[in-house]
Amino acid sequence: MKKVLLIKYGEIALRKGNRSIFEKKLASTIQNLINDSNIKTTREQGRLLVENINGDIDADAVIEKIRRIFGIAAICISYKLDDAALSNLQKAALMTLTEDKTTFKIETKRSDKRYPMQSQEISAAIGEYILNQRSNITVDVHNPQVIVWIEIRNYAYVYTDIIKCESGLPYGSTGKGLLLLSGGIDSPVAGYLMARRGMEIIPIYFHSPPYTSERAKDKVIDLMECLCRFIGPSPLYVVPFTETQLYIYENMQSEKMTLFLKRAMFHIASIIAEKEKAHCLITGDSIGQVASQTAHSIAAVDSASNFAVLRPLAAMDKQQIINTAKQIGTYEISILPYEDCCTIFVPKHPEHKPNAKAVASLEAKNIALPKLFSKAAEQIEPVQCPSTN
Ligand code: ATP
Ligand code: MG
Repeated sequence: MKKVLLIKYGEIALRKGNRSIFEKKLASTIQNLINDSNIKTTREQGRLLVENINGDIDADAVIEKIRRIFGIAAICISYKLDDAALSNLQKAALMTLTEDKTTFKIETKRSDKRYPMQSQEISAAIGEYILNQRSNITVDVHNPQVIVWIEIRNYAYVYTDIIKCESGLPYGSTGKGLLLLSGGIDSPVAGYLMARRGMEIIPIYFHSPPYTSERAKDKVIDLMECLCRFIGPSPLYVVPFTETQLYIYENMQSEKMTLFLKRAMFHIASIIAEKEKAHCLITGDSIGQVASQTAHSIAAVDSASNFAVLRPLAAMDKQQIINTAKQIGTYEISILPYEDCCTIFVPKHPEHKPNAKAVASLEAKNIALPKLFSKAAEQIEPVQCPSTN
């Protein structure tokens, strides 16, 4: 008998056709985040099993590493029994019940239908054994202090401790999205929400030195490290944006500056997305938050990208976004006051209702732009971000 972690996954179980792909993705994410060759993650009939090949698992340490992984609904700190004989189940169940407990209930799940007893019979036999062994405890089926769970799968499992986790879908199981990650409050939340829906995130940050400082860049790296706690280590691509930004500033209409800058970001992001075989772009736009985030402005910007642009925050209000940012730990970093490239050259009178076609055709007159876009996309600098646990 040894201590292991039994992983329950929520929504994946519903996806009959691709279930094994989802399970494998989840297992490899867990394995990568634990990053210890003594610990193995394997599939176990509708669950994943995380165990130390040399003995008991250090449950607290491993849970701290994996509890934020998307797709995990709960982690059960469990005993694993090689031999599921009733007498072994009884002993293990007794061990899980600490002396302070006065009421309990046994719940059995029998996936291995070859087991000679039915679930109810197993629960009853274990309950009886415990009542015989302990005088100070009784059964309460409606409101027990503790439930002892028995699961009979390839091996047998006995546990009482269940830690609820993030749920969502396994990272990387629903496609790849290029995240436009600024230092603000919104885009880290947008990245988190899409990653939670199973999308692999490739983050890019547009950096305009010397107009944006190294500290502004470090802030984005810190934000990415925060996201890495959910998705594992990931590179952040820093895009050199100064030349493009100065060109736009010096040559193009100032009231439309924000739109041209956003379009430039989308053009460059699309080149990178193509190379990275991503399926879409992701931004932190929230409708109505600023002038560049009206439906008109979004329409005027989107045609710069040949990829679908996902905006998971579109319908959220600022307080909801802030609450999520606090919950995932990015808020405190985001509110640090370093400048963003879009805020440096903001026009005095930004347009609220730009004409999408007019913006695109004004941009098209600048034949120098496409070269600047490809140059920026070629010169991206990857910064490896570890996950800070
Ligand atoms: P955020 O809080 O995410 O910074 P914001 O409210 O400041 O957003 P904008 O400046 O209009 O709004 O930016 C909208 C979106 O454009 C951001 O959420 C982000 O996805 C993208 N974006 C803006 N600036 C950058 C940048 N320097 N690098 C990468 N993406 C950016
Ligand atoms: Mg911003």
